[in-house]
Amino acid sequence: MHPNPTRSRDDLRQLLARIDGRPYPVYKDIAGTYDFGAFTLAIDHVQGDPFAAPSRLRVIMAPARMQLPDWAATTALRRTATADWLLRRFHRATGMAAARRGSGKSGLITVDRPGQEILPRTACVVFPGRVEVRFFAGLPAAGRRILGRQAVEMLCVDIPRLVEGSLVLKAADQRDLERHIAVTEDQAALRAALAERRLVAFVGDGSILPRESGVSDRPLRGPRVIPFTAPDSLAVELDTPHRGKVRGLGIPQGVTLIVGGGYHGKSTLLRALARGVYDHIPGDGRELVVTDPTAVKIRAEDGRRIEQVDISPFIRNLPFDADTRRFSTEEASGSTSQAANIMEALELGARVLLIDEDTSATNFMIRDRRMQALVSKDREPITPFIDRVRALYRDRGVSSILVVGGAGDYLDVADTVIRMDAYRAQDATAEAREVAARFPTGRIAEDPGPFPPVPERVPLPSSLDPRRGNKVKIRAHGTDEITFGFEEIDLSAVEQLVDPSQTRAVGAMIRYMTGRYLDGRRTLREALEALYAELDEHGLDRVSPFPTPAGDLALPRLFEVGAAINRLRSLRVEVRGPAVGEDSRGHTS
Ligand code: ADP
Ligand code: MG
Repeated sequence: MHPNPTRSRDDLRQLLARIDGRPYPVYKDIAGTYDFGAFTLAIDHVQGDPFAAPSRLRVIMAPARMQLPDWAATTALRRTATADWLLRRFHRATGMAAARRGSGKSGLITVDRPGQEILPRTACVVFPGRVEVRFFAGLPAAGRRILGRQAVEMLCVDIPRLVEGSLVLKAADQRDLERHIAVTEDQAALRAALAERRLVAFVGDGSILPRESGVSDRPLRGPRVIPFTAPDSLAVELDTPHRGKVRGLGIPQGVTLIVGGGYHGKSTLLRALARGVYDHIPGDGRELVVTDPTAVKIRAEDGRRIEQVDISPFIRNLPFDADTRRFSTEEASGSTSQAANIMEALELGARVLLIDEDTSATNFMIRDRRMQALVSKDREPITPFIDRVRALYRDRGVSSILVVGGAGDYLDVADTVIRMDAYRAQDATAEAREVAARFPTGRIAEDPGPFPPVPERVPLPSSLDPRRGNKVKIRAHGTDEITFGFEEIDLSAVEQLVDPSQTRAVGAMIRYMTGRYLDGRRTLREALEALYAELDEHGLDRVSPFPTPAGDLALPRLFEVGAAINRLRSLRVEVRGPAVGEDSRGHTS
């Protein structure tokens, strides 16, 4: 990208000496690229004052100079794993290199910090023939005066040391990198093997599923942690390129229940499955937990907005005749929100739904015999999930994995029943059938027929405006919220958005899509697929909000970007009419 940096490290040194003591904005003069010998330093953006967001810099380095083996970059997956590994090293090194050097953010050196997942990130990118690390630096100042000597120390001494210490590999480092890549490739291979084995998820023996705490995603440790073991009758063996055959629980397509007593590990298993759409780092404990990449965690989310979603497979005949084939509301209830969450996931191509009783609307999940007797069918708009889950699989090929601790009626509709007993998984399928036969629920199945195709919706570009006045305003707050123009998008119920950098990317991606792919003609799904095709070819840098690369974006899934758009309160759509030969219910006439 910068084949001929004209200036050298000495030029930068002299420049900094010259501007020493001048007002802070004079720092702008150092923007540009410098040949440091071992690498190129690009100063992409210089902050306006010591308290502003820190300056954006890049190190650009040749793989040969890093002693990076050729095998580390031969496939897209390897480039992602290698970039992740390099970034973790660079991040550790920044923790030691940063020093306070004056006012505000003076002396600060930071880089985006990866969590337990291995995701494509813009903080480190392995290109064919070069590696870039994008990071942030607070240029030193006393008050608002440039501290030139400290800047020389930081940019011309500390950063080269940081680069040598973290980006140049020794023999032992190469072995560690090899393992990082192997673990990533094994996960990809396991995930790819699911479909042909007619599985939706796999949990390898020895996996550590529980996490350290509600706020830490690191594995729980200690003598009381019980590693996962698959019961023989549900065990499968899958091939991996590096570990050979691995044994574990294979969750088949269809309807699977996870049952068991309270506090016996049901939600922990489901949560691990929800995260199984991502690759995990060595030592995480979930390196052998993989899930169909289209699996979506579904929950009730009352209060959310819904824009013209067809929830009629679950809910019809609402009071005041609200049309549930194009259902809109400013404030959804528990059941309508859960129905919309399912329909939106299906619209974007989800083939697996993950549902936990703990976070579901009870009346959406079940209506037992007594309630059926007390409130007649024609007074109840909801067809509960229990009466739809089989049709979802039969007619749409969509599997469900459900945590059920209380609603035993579900035994009637399950293909597979996994029982968690003091954190140990058992196959309770046969026993569940027996119990179901012995204790009939007496409930009347309320099957309203085939599960119809899901209508696609075309977002109207005018309803996706990131401007506030005449400035674009998009800001991510953790993983739970994005400010988008005048709107706040609440993502706290979107559980598979796991990294703040993914949330930032969601904001950047929506902005990038407006006017390009969200053109008033493409459906939401078509627009997202077009974006992902572009990113697949050109990388996530494409959606940088700056003219130069952003250092703090991580790739989310298509489902989470769609989920954010669906939660934008300003969103307006046109429903794409049903295909020829189908009426508006989606049934073939
Ligand atoms: P449930 O959903 O069945 O009520 P949870 O999955 O919430 O139970 O788990 C309850 C507690 O047990 C959590 O604190 C979790 O971290 C812990 N836990 C889960 N699995 C294990 C395990 N394999 N070994 C040790 N502790 C575990
Ligand atoms: Mg639970």
